[in-house]
Amino acid sequence: MKNEKSKSNFIRDIIDEDLKTDKYGGRVHTRFPPEPNGYLHIGHAKSICLNFGIAADYAGLCNLRFDDTNPETEEIEYAESIKEDVRWLGFDWEDRLYYASDYFDQLYGYAVQLTEKGMAYVCDLSIDQIREYRGTLTKPGKDSPYRKRPVEENLDLLNRMKEGEFEEGSRILRAKIDMSHPNMLMRDPTFYRIRKKTHYRTGDKWCIYPTYDFTHCLSDSIEGITNSICTLEFENNRPLYDWILDQLEVHHPQQTEFARLNLSHTVLSKRKLLELVEEGHVRGWDDPRMPTISGLRRRGYTPESIRNFCDQIGVAKANSIVDLVQLENSLREELNRTAPRFMAVLRPLKVVIVNYPEDKVEELDAINNPEDPSMGTRKVPFSRVLYIEQDDFREEPPKKFYRLAPDREVRLRYAYFITCVDVIKDKNTGEVVELHCTYDPATRGGDSPDGRRVKSTMHWVSANQAIDAEVRLYDNLFTKRDPSEVEEGTDFKSNLNPKSLETLKACKLEPGLKGVAPGSRCQFERLGYFCADSVDSSAEKLVFNRTVSLRDTWAKISKAAEQQKRT
Ligand code: ATP
Ligand code: MG
Repeated sequence: MKNEKSKSNFIRDIIDEDLKTDKYGGRVHTRFPPEPNGYLHIGHAKSICLNFGIAADYAGLCNLRFDDTNPETEEIEYAESIKEDVRWLGFDWEDRLYYASDYFDQLYGYAVQLTEKGMAYVCDLSIDQIREYRGTLTKPGKDSPYRKRPVEENLDLLNRMKEGEFEEGSRILRAKIDMSHPNMLMRDPTFYRIRKKTHYRTGDKWCIYPTYDFTHCLSDSIEGITNSICTLEFENNRPLYDWILDQLEVHHPQQTEFARLNLSHTVLSKRKLLELVEEGHVRGWDDPRMPTISGLRRRGYTPESIRNFCDQIGVAKANSIVDLVQLENSLREELNRTAPRFMAVLRPLKVVIVNYPEDKVEELDAINNPEDPSMGTRKVPFSRVLYIEQDDFREEPPKKFYRLAPDREVRLRYAYFITCVDVIKDKNTGEVVELHCTYDPATRGGDSPDGRRVKSTMHWVSANQAIDAEVRLYDNLFTKRDPSEVEEGTDFKSNLNPKSLETLKACKLEPGLKGVAPGSRCQFERLGYFCADSVDSSAEKLVFNRTVSLRDTWAKISKAAEQQKRT
């Protein structure tokens, strides 16, 4: 039963066909199979949305399965973070949380079966020899001298491998397929290797561990999966996936590959992300500059915006790079509708309204979100001393600079028209430290009764009532669209953007933001969407992350650069 809303793609076409031919008795059962060796990133979100989305649309099921067969890199912390992230994205595996490591006994049984059938053997070649015997893409491999080992001997050696009798690297269990197979992965691939390591779940029970290829198809089969959806790099593994299941004559899911998500100006590989964390290039897996789910969450992304993004990019058979701007736009679209607006001054410049009474404070009406009248209005205090943005004033305004300048009149949003009458500078540095302005009491609320026009409307906060905050501005983590493009002798880290984080410590916010809960999102008028940091922000010390600017500034900059080139 396909849901109306579902988008068509080639995977859904395959499922539709399977349903028509009753291949799996009308069932649709998918799984998301992360390895707990790092935090999930936006690429995983694509896979999560696809697997859980298909299950939901076809009234099927989706499992969460930890693909945890490598004792060297897997940790409980990662497994916990993955569960949290999948849940946060809005998906529910109900009671279907599985671990490949729970299947170790069963998997070993299958290995014994294959060995008994003469389809697997214990090989004593060293790692280097195995590589040498494998041949190349253009040259067939050679049979291992152990390939003809009798079944009984193989079974005995496999058992002794399991019992820990042999050293790491001294023996493997491998498939007996074809050493001259055109697909290198079919040249007697490894099923089991000896690793005398403690596993984060099974402890020291095992000292042999199954490979990905052996584990994955059988885990899918054990769970009754119908559609095993994975990324394109596993296309060459599919014949092996099918071979193992065919030999064992067990339930046989259909593996289908789709293109992995690549996002511009970032890297989506757990190994590279781990490197950034371990070498201190970022402040952790959840650093708001990271493309991890936890980083995006801390940055202020919503689950809905990520799900919508995954819907928009769709599923394809060819790899490509999606522009980061597309992810940002998905969030802008949502926050424009949902985020309450406030005024905040990030780089304050003091303004004294010289004709405004010393002790007077007015409460002016401000609209919380013009896109959604149901969000109502709030009061904003106005008084004699205010802050505006340093950028909103120029002593000698260039052409097309319409904001405040000497003798010029502008509108303060929700307040009054003001005119700059004096500029106060630091005697030593010459820096502008204060402006003196007059206001026109007849323009209360920001309307001029005589139809007088001003070219600019600026945000501001009242100095006495303002609250202090730290604001962190973020830029792309990498300067290049494809960070893997590097000069010889360097790696992707040479493309790190040294200006990806700017911390502003003396920001002034309107008092309505007092005590705002960590994680809350809002728009600072004219500046962008911001989110109170879930880790560092507290009632005593507010810390905001800029989630995303209001518009795509990069597009503007490159457009300007292009225009310049043309003229
Ligand atoms: P990484 O390359 O980041 O280490 P991985 O493939 O090793 O990723 P897994 O934990 O094995 O990470 O991934 C779990 C699932 O997520 C797999 O089915 C994998 O195909 C999918 N996946 C991983 N990266 C992406 C991506 N960039 N786009 C889409 N799906 C992805
Ligand atoms: Mg993987």
